[in-house]
Amino acid sequence: MTAAVIDGKAFAATLRTRVGELAAEFEAKAGRKAGLAVVLVGEDPASQVYVRSKGKSTLEAGMNSFEHKLPADTSEADLLAMVYALNADPAVDGILVQLPLPRHIDEQKVIAAINPDKDVDGFHVTNAGRLAVGQPGFVPCTPLGCLMLLQDRLGDLSGLNAVVIGRSNIVGKPMAQLLIAQSCTVTVAHSRTQDLADVVRRADIVVAAVGRPEMVKGDWIKPGATVIDVGINRVPGAAEGKTRLVGDVDYASAAAVAGAITPVPGGVGPMTIAVLLRNALVAAYRNAGLDLAADAV
Ligand code: NAD
Repeated sequence: MTAAVIDGKAFAATLRTRVGELAAEFEAKAGRKAGLAVVLVGEDPASQVYVRSKGKSTLEAGMNSFEHKLPADTSEADLLAMVYALNADPAVDGILVQLPLPRHIDEQKVIAAINPDKDVDGFHVTNAGRLAVGQPGFVPCTPLGCLMLLQDRLGDLSGLNAVVIGRSNIVGKPMAQLLIAQSCTVTVAHSRTQDLADVVRRADIVVAAVGRPEMVKGDWIKPGATVIDVGINRVPGAAEGKTRLVGDVDYASAAAVAGAITPVPGGVGPMTIAVLLRNALVAAYRNAGLDLAADAV
């Protein structure tokens, strides 16, 4: 058997087009564009790339992008003051503070300062709580993107056995909550899990969010299972001095057994920004008091 390849790049492109259509409708109804503010502190090269790409994608979707670049020595108080100003700004529907922050700034304090109704990353404890109890809020972009890919592939997930490997606040835990809400039987595995291969073998759905290159092997996968690989790991490439990206799943061996699998790159990765734009659009509708059908995007 060779698994079907889940094309996250194509799915993300369709989602972005849909967000663009709804952003135009929002502008016509609200008399203003939806707006997403991104705050970057310092000069971390990877963060700079992410922020640039988020800004470009926001503009492409027909929304305003407000980029705030602050020097690495910005004080926590000054960053908090910026977050409060963005909370109060009616042109800003979503606020994203790019992580990681410099060490002298308490990340939790900054996330807690964001108005939960503008917290498009879904990292505020209020949004984690809303997700846990099934209230509308904002869900972290990467796991929500994984759920969209799973539903697109499998339809109703009810009753399926799902194993999430990883228990981080930004991927593993919200992924588990989303799958519980879809009536999956969910197991969360992590660094202390015993007999991980046996745990994974029971799964109809495997979501790997570990950060260890090619850790999940094909002989751990139940034949026909759907495998979502969140991992993005840079490893030495074939040529000297070159690197390549691999996931947390050993793609070749897993694809020989699974029913469907996301590649790396081109699977989960492109979904994250697309879902961010989706969350910003939903924030705009909510903040403007306009209706948006639950299944609109
Ligand atoms: P993290 O380091 O915060 O969490 C990793 C989790 O893996 C931990 O909960 C840990 O318990 C678990 N773990 C570690 N070693 C393990 C082992 N041997 N067996 C079982 N579990 C183990 O990482 P994260 O932020 O959740 O990210 C996970 C991966 O996903 C990384 O590769 C990251 O780059 C990637 N990621 C991708 C996107 C995207 O847009 N596609 C977004 C976020 C994270």
